[in-house]
Amino acid sequence: MRRSLVLGTTNSGKVRELLDLLEPFGVGCESLAGLPAAVEVDEIGSTFAENAALKATQQAVALGRWVLAEDSGLVVPALNGSPGIHSARFSGLTAADGREAVDVANNRLLLERLGHATGVERAAHYACHAALADPTGRVVAVAAGTCGGLIATEPAGTGGFGYDPLFIVPEYHRTFGELPPAVKAVISHRARAMREMIPAVVRALAG
Ligand code: IMP
Repeated sequence: MRRSLVLGTTNSGKVRELLDLLEPFGVGCESLAGLPAAVEVDEIGSTFAENAALKATQQAVALGRWVLAEDSGLVVPALNGSPGIHSARFSGLTAADGREAVDVANNRLLLERLGHATGVERAAHYACHAALADPTGRVVAVAAGTCGGLIATEPAGTGGFGYDPLFIVPEYHRTFGELPPAVKAVISHRARAMREMIPAVVRALAG
């Protein structure tokens, strides 16, 4: 029987990108959105890696399925690593307030915190840690990726999600909000983590 993979997230931006990265390899995926048995996972880890493992293992046990989860976020060294693992809830708004409102509030707060910072003080990177858990909840593979950039002084573009309208990719002098998805699919933190993870996913589902 052909096995399929559950993506351990309800974030539609992440789901879209993960599907684009995984489906070319023949990996069948479904998100948590259509799975009533999915559980709410408390992200109580102190690192991206710990939270990725928590999400993968808890959903795998609840669903009895292979689960690929990732925890990701924006790290700004000049803000002591903030928003980091708290990227999704930086402003205090939650998914219940609507994804768009959350993104706008997070971006606004980030600009506020950076104030008139210039040069290297606006340097940042995205980080993504992924974990693949088998249906018993055992983590069988982990992977990570980063993507360096600079925080713009105002949002630009409507592509991507989250902090993308503020995240300038230096090589392109454009934000991820302005760049086409095909560029993000090659150089993003998520793309890099998935490239490392894909062999394990293929082994798991084909075996
Ligand atoms: P998580 O769902 O707890 O992993 O939180 C991820 C949060 O980090 C998202 O809600 C965004 O705020 C931010 N983030 C992660 N990856 C990206 C990305 O590719 N673009 C923009 N924001 C991102």
